[in-house]
Amino acid sequence: MARPILWIVVPCYNEEQVLPLTAPMFLQKVQELTDGGKISKNSRILFVNDGSADKTWSIIRELAEKDEHYIGICQSRNRGHQNAVLAGLMEAKDRCDITISIDCDGQDDINAMDRMVDEYLDGAEIVYGVRAKRDTDSFFKRFTAETFYKLMKTLGADVVFNHADYRLISAKVLQHLADFEEVNIFLRGMVPLVGFKSTTVSYDRAERLAGKSHYPLRKMLALAFNGITSLSVKPITLITAIGAGFSFIGLILMIWAVVKAILGQTVAGWASTVCIVCLLGGIQLISMGILGQYIGKTYLETKHRPRYIISARTWEAETRHYLED
Ligand code: UDP
Ligand code: MG
Repeated sequence: MARPILWIVVPCYNEEQVLPLTAPMFLQKVQELTDGGKISKNSRILFVNDGSADKTWSIIRELAEKDEHYIGICQSRNRGHQNAVLAGLMEAKDRCDITISIDCDGQDDINAMDRMVDEYLDGAEIVYGVRAKRDTDSFFKRFTAETFYKLMKTLGADVVFNHADYRLISAKVLQHLADFEEVNIFLRGMVPLVGFKSTTVSYDRAERLAGKSHYPLRKMLALAFNGITSLSVKPITLITAIGAGFSFIGLILMIWAVVKAILGQTVAGWASTVCIVCLLGGIQLISMGILGQYIGKTYLETKHRPRYIISARTWEAETRHYLED
C-alpha cells in the first residue's frame, strides 16, 4: 500500500541547547507513525537553520550523518521564523506528500501529529494545530496573543484562533502557496487564503525545553502589525471613517462658534483650542503613519527580492572550484 511521505519542517535559530533534546523526539515520532503504517518510511525531518550564530548548523549536520531521516538546509543569514518555515516548505513541496511545520523548542505537542496525519488520511489538505490550554505561557503573553487575534479579526484578517505555525499542509496545497509571491510573509494569514479542505486539531502548549524565546514584545507587535497590513486594508478605511467623524464634529463646532460670534459673544477657552489641536495633530500623524506603512510595504514588494537564500543542504556536498596550481 502506498503511504504518504511526510516531511517535518523545523525552523531553528540559535537552538544549540534545545536541538539535541527535541531531534530524537521528532525521530521517534516519525518511527511510530511509520510503524503504525500511517506514513512512508521515506519520511524526513527537515531542519532549517535560520542563520544561527551558535552551533545549530553543525548539530544539524551531525544529526544528518547519524540518521538518514534527519536532513537540513541552511539559510545564508537570519531572515526570521516565517521565512525559515517558508524556505523549508518550498524545499519540501516537490519531494513529499505532506509537511508538518513545528517549532524546535518542544513547546508544540509532537503527539498531535498522529491526529493531524489521521485528518489528512480522512481527506483534509490543511490541519491547523490549535492551542487548547496556554497556562504555561505568562498572563501577559496570553493577554497580548488574545488581543492580537481579536484585533486581526476586526481588521479583516482571517486567522485561525490560537493557531501559530504548527500545521500540516499537503504538497497539493503547497504548490498553490508557492504562487503567493509576497515578500512580507505571514503564513497564518496566507495559508487559509489558499483554500482547500481544512480542519483543526487541539493540543496543549508546553514550556520551552531549553533556551529562551526569540519573540519579545517588540517582535510580537511587529508580527501583529505585519499580519494586519499584509492581509487587510481595513486600517485605511478606518482612518477615513475617523476623519469623516472629526470633520462632522468640526463642522458643528464651527457653526456654533460663528453663531456665537454673530451674536457678539466670543467662545471662551484657550485650553479647549490647544486640546483640539493636539488631538487632531496626533490623529493626523497616526493616520499618516498607517498610510506610510502601506506605501513602504508596496515599495518593498515591488523589489521582488528573494524571500530566502539557501546556502547549504546536508545532502549536497559543498562545492568549491579551486584551480589546480
Ligand atoms: N526562529 C527562527 N528564526 C528566528 C526566530 C525564531 O527560525 O529569527 C525559530 C525558533 O528556533 C523556534 C521557532 O522559530 O523554532 C519559534 O521561536 P520561539 O520559540 O523563540 O518563539 P515563541 O515560541 O516564544 O513564540
Ligand atoms: Mg517557542
